[in-house]
Amino acid sequence: MEIKGVLFDKDGTLLEFHQMWLKVSQGVVAALLTRYPTQVEVTATALLEAIGVYGERVDNYGLLASNPVEDTSKKWFDMLAPQCDFVAFNHEVKGLFNQQVEQMPELIQTLPGIKSTLINLKQKGFKLGIATADTKDATLYSLEQAGIIELFDFIGYSDGDIEPKPAPALMEAFCQHCDLHAAEVVMLGDTVSDMKFGINSGARSVGVLTGTASQEELASHAELVLDSVAEFTPCLLKSA
Ligand SMILES: [Mg+2]
Repeated sequence: MEIKGVLFDKDGTLLEFHQMWLKVSQGVVAALLTRYPTQVEVTATALLEAIGVYGERVDNYGLLASNPVEDTSKKWFDMLAPQCDFVAFNHEVKGLFNQQVEQMPELIQTLPGIKSTLINLKQKGFKLGIATADTKDATLYSLEQAGIIELFDFIGYSDGDIEPKPAPALMEAFCQHCDLHAAEVVMLGDTVSDMKFGINSGARSVGVLTGTASQEELASHAELVLDSVAEFTPCLLKSA
């Protein structure tokens, strides 16, 4: 089928990931440890490693790179054993992530060549969408800040109201919104979870190396692996 829509992961695919999310996750952890100082003996390093942040390295399969914030909240809730219930704790963690993102607007940047690629695809008539594991507030804020929000026909996030990637729910929402079939859509992302999401949805999957995963990790799940979204054009895909 002819490609008519392109769905993108956000962080590590369109926006710079490492600098920003390292600083954001470190900031959230510092704030949490101040908030829950005497509950149990848990170090910042242990909280960060639990979500896949090892020093300056972010694990492609870890919760920070691949999962919604809620999964990070669950992990930290178990570790910190706070006196509040999970709903309140999750609300607080999401709030801290959003706050940290908004405190670092200078770190929100599109990867090189991304904006012109998006404009080009838009001008050619492709429907463009976002499917991110990030929360609603942080997603809208960062796309706005990066100056690309108006290029998207659909913005899908994981804020506890829709099943996150790799389940196909965000693809179904994009297709419904833009009147497309999944087979007419290509998913571009930087993680194995993004590639599985494309496959689970019946769409095409293209991996990019601007995020956390290596060529080897993505290649077995992707139709194609590119250095960056900036190299992408739908003619690169074999007609199916
Ligand atoms: Mg990503």
